[in-house]
Amino acid sequence: MEQKTVCILGGGIGGVVAANLIKKGLGNNSRVILIDKNSDHIFAPSFLWIVDGKREPEQIKRPLKRLERKGIEFVRGEVTKISPGDNAIMVGDQTIKYDYLVVALGAESNMGAIDNLDDAAINFYSLDGILRLKKELQKFKGEDVVVLIPSTPYKCPAAPYEVAFLVEARLREKAGAKINTHVCTVEGLPMPGAGPEVGQMIKGLLANRGINFKPTVEVDSIDPKLKTITFKGGERQRADLLITVPPHKSPDVVKEAGLTNEAGWIPVDKKTLETKFRNIFAVGDITAIKLEGRYKPEKQLMVPKAGVFAHGEAEVVAANIIADIKGVTRTLKFNGEGSCFLELGDGTAGFAGGRFYEMPRPIVEMKKPSRLQALKKVAFEKYWFWRWL
Ligand SMILES: Cc1cc2nc3c(=O)[nH]c(=O)nc-3n(C[C@H](O)[C@H](O)[C@H](O)COP(=O)(O)OP(=O)(O)OC[C@H]3O[C@@H](n4cnc5c(N)ncnc54)[C@H](O)[C@@H]3O)c2cc1C
Repeated sequence: MEQKTVCILGGGIGGVVAANLIKKGLGNNSRVILIDKNSDHIFAPSFLWIVDGKREPEQIKRPLKRLERKGIEFVRGEVTKISPGDNAIMVGDQTIKYDYLVVALGAESNMGAIDNLDDAAINFYSLDGILRLKKELQKFKGEDVVVLIPSTPYKCPAAPYEVAFLVEARLREKAGAKINTHVCTVEGLPMPGAGPEVGQMIKGLLANRGINFKPTVEVDSIDPKLKTITFKGGERQRADLLITVPPHKSPDVVKEAGLTNEAGWIPVDKKTLETKFRNIFAVGDITAIKLEGRYKPEKQLMVPKAGVFAHGEAEVVAANIIADIKGVTRTLKFNGEGSCFLELGDGTAGFAGGRFYEMPRPIVEMKKPSRLQALKKVAFEKYWFWRWL
């Protein structure tokens, strides 16, 4: 077997799975190089436990250098250029040549996309934001808390609902306080990719907890001094505490490489995750995968941006790169299966999952919330660090 170099860009969920599996499958007769601008792998599904005091930031990170125990080379640095024509990438001023490339650079927050959003709101998709949220909830004395979803797509479609449930549960404990929690979203229903039944179920859970659900509202302006959001059409919402899903964008380096569509995401073959170059694959949040199945009303559905898909896609890409290098046919195909927990902030969690490639529409179901599901999520975090890092 000829020695090959596989470069993996990004040490998040997709990147660490791909690196582990490719190295294991090819052994010493290959170089597997993983590059990330951060020194740590941070496990975002555990973010909200920081608000609750169940985790400290250090507990949900692992140094990517640990991968070197397994023979994976780790390079810390920002990928500044991808040159598909030369089979090369640049990390700072270092050029690295590859035979195969896996792009797993994720999606970034783009708080500047909406005027005043950064001044007025807490971005709970960042570790800093999560720590701020923890502090703000401890001292909160206002009445209206808003969880805002200002744009799509965004990662983890369950996360803004989880934060709303968590905030409601925490603030309810403040004796005598009259606090209203609102979810204001551009979407028509919660988690639209999971279909109307799951959406209605989450709407029901919000209503049971007294959380006001305001769908199909688009931000017109935000006034940090007056603590108000004005939506298009003129409706206003007071927000003594504004918690937001950030607008998302892909890292500039993939746009400059000519790998992306007009929206900035990388279109890939939905079964093989191959880009327009046969030796370049993309997995996870950075991809744009259109679903052929439809819910009514007819809207273009995409594979949601979630770790579970990054993980499943990375398994397929790893198997097919190994097959190529071993000189056998690529056989594994991604089947569009995925699931996630929905934590309700009171020690219980729901679990939604299904088959997103199913025709004529994806089949996704949600299990009734229970303590068992919440415990399963804790077990999954332990498994994650043990298995991949
Ligand atoms: C609060 C929250 C809760 C979530 N909960 C869940 C959940 O319960 N279940 C679930 O399935 N998903 C969940 N997600 C979503 C999940 O974390 C992401 O979908 C997943 O991490 C995507 O994996 P990825 O490999 O595509 O990208 P990421 O994990 O984001 O990794 C991208 C990596 O690329 C690196 N990088 C970016 N640009 C560069 C560059 N130019 N040079 C070098 N390195 C670069 C970054 O540092 C990062 O390490 C949650 C997300 C959040 C924010």
